[in-house]
Amino acid sequence: MNCPICNSEMKKGGVVTDNGEMSNATLSLTWYPEEELKKHNKNGAVPLSLNDEGYYCDECMKVFAIHNVHYTSMF
Ligand SMILES: [Zn+2]
Repeated sequence: MNCPICNSEMKKGGVVTDNGEMSNATLSLTWYPEEELKKHNKNGAVPLSLNDEGYYCDECMKVFAIHNVHYTSMF
C-alpha cells in the first residue's frame, strides 16, 4: 500500500489498542462524521474494532489504519 500523503511504499502491520495496567477499563474506538466530532454525538457514529490492519510510512512517520466496523456494539 502506498502512502496517501507522499506515495511512498508503506510497511504493513497492525494497530493494537492496549489498556496497559488498567485491565478493567473499557475501551472503544469510534468514527464520527466531521460535523458531530466535537459534540461526540452518536448520530452517525460508527464503532470500530480495536485491533486492525495498519500501515506505517517511514517518510511521513504516520500510520494509516484500516478498521473494521465493530457490528456487535452498533445496536
Ligand atoms: Zn508518506
